[in-house]
Amino acid sequence: MDSIDTDVLVVGAGAAGLCAAISAAPRRVLLAFADDPRAASSTALAQGGIAAPLGAGDSVRSQWVDTLAAGCHSSDRRAALRVIRAAGEAVRFLSGVGVRFDQGASGWRMHLEAGHSRPRVLHAEGDRTGRAILEALLAHAAGCGHIEQLPGLRVASLLRGEDGDIAGALGFDRQGAPVRIGARDTVLATGGLGGLFPFTTNGRHAGGDGLAMALGCGARVAGLEFIQFHPTALETPEDPAPLLTEALRGAGAILLDAHGDRLMHGAHPLSDLAPRDVVARAVWARRLRGEAVWLDATAVFRGEHAGEFPLALHTCRAHGLDPAREPVPVTAAAHYHMGGIAVDALGRTSLPGLWACGEVACTGMHGANRLASNSLLEAVVCGRIAGESLARSSPAPCRPRAPAAPAADVAADRHGGAAQLREIMGRCMGPLRHEGELLGGLRELTALRERLAPEALTTRRRLELAIAMVRAALVRRESRGAHWRSDFPQRDPAADTR
Ligand SMILES: Cc1cc2nc3c(=O)[nH]c(=O)nc-3n(C[C@H](O)[C@H](O)[C@H](O)COP(=O)(O)OP(=O)(O)OC[C@H]3O[C@@H](n4cnc5c(N)ncnc54)[C@H](O)[C@@H]3O)c2cc1C
Repeated sequence: MDSIDTDVLVVGAGAAGLCAAISAAPRRVLLAFADDPRAASSTALAQGGIAAPLGAGDSVRSQWVDTLAAGCHSSDRRAALRVIRAAGEAVRFLSGVGVRFDQGASGWRMHLEAGHSRPRVLHAEGDRTGRAILEALLAHAAGCGHIEQLPGLRVASLLRGEDGDIAGALGFDRQGAPVRIGARDTVLATGGLGGLFPFTTNGRHAGGDGLAMALGCGARVAGLEFIQFHPTALETPEDPAPLLTEALRGAGAILLDAHGDRLMHGAHPLSDLAPRDVVARAVWARRLRGEAVWLDATAVFRGEHAGEFPLALHTCRAHGLDPAREPVPVTAAAHYHMGGIAVDALGRTSLPGLWACGEVACTGMHGANRLASNSLLEAVVCGRIAGESLARSSPAPCRPRAPAAPAADVAADRHGGAAQLREIMGRCMGPLRHEGELLGGLRELTALRERLAPEALTTRRRLELAIAMVRAALVRRESRGAHWRSDFPQRDPAADTR
């Protein structure tokens, strides 16, 4: 087995991993990632933008209040404040590494998005914001002497040192050969877990690997049941489902039901700008009844904002649709995980030697529901905080124990029940949940685990994660934010965070 030793191992090269790696200087960083992040990261896919309270008349307090309202009495208020306070500095950092945010007549142009009480979402290159941020960070990281990149490494397990601390990771290269990486500190920045669902806006890279590995090692996790579903994925057989940014509704697009009536009219005081979970449930309920739902963005694409959505236009056209002429079919899809590996204010997990940042981590900021465009912000801010904390901390001299070759087989994973896992999760853990379906799903997942080849290591870990998620959804006998139980439709105030 190939063996590498490094000082800091960062797994994942999206916004969070890149920011952590860049900020960890002068420590020596090995940045490992499975695939080219341009093709396999949620950062590359982010369209709406990055939220920061930088517009005239806006304030940290205002974005904080909106964030807590979306989080549905479940956010860690201090974590939310910490991240939003750092938003201005994060935007200046991104500008400094070359991100050119779109300009209006008097400085940065601020966009309105659902759940925000004022325009505060910055775009770069229109709706290609994530891609613009990723390219700038990748270019900057390539020029950092302290970072060595290791592309093509799929990490499958964490390593423990002789003292029990996390001491690196085991992975597989592109040929499926095992590689052991010993590290004094390990940072997981592996993104979300939409790939556990059959309908998702996330790519296959988002299979929850980092969270599953940490869970397997006994790390403290939080909010596993809180999965945000995006209300307007374009309805196509494509996997992942292409997303039509919510900023379209901010600019005036509306949702229509199968009869051409306004879907959200009367359903919520904010109508089409209602919180994402409310809109996603309304869309999903119609889709479960076999009815189509349409997004009418004709006015947007014929109006003054038309040039701001090149990606949405391209996506629709690639599927033979013209959003300037006709409404386009949409559905709800798994989009973002509010839960994850529990971290403290510096990005430390409950396991010594293990750090986490970005979507794989749970700072508590998002509570039960993420406010649109707060996640790129959190990935950048918390990636930087984790990196800076690593730079300040003196690494413990930890000698990783040489592990035995892992009993794992990449081919077994490919055929080892991943499709069934996604199908079961789609049935029991979607936007509308019920005890009967959750219990049925739990039974099926447990039975699938029994049948799984022992060497299908990644699928086994994902199954364990899926089981933990369903259990968390069963235990939460209330409806809160993105977690909706039709058998317990009310929020239980006793479960509010104080
Ligand atoms: C379609 C879409 C649109 C979005 N739009 C917005 C938006 O407008 N605004 C906003 O704030 N947020 C948006 N989000 C959410 C936001 O993009 C993500 O939350 C954020 O980019 C996550 O960054 P990250 O660095 O944590 O993870 P990612 O960017 O997903 O990066 C994860 C990295 O980990 C690697 N990886 C994963 N597993 C392994 C493994 N086992 N071994 C090795 N490497 C691995 C991946 O290859 C990748 O390099 C959107 C998400 C999607 C899917």
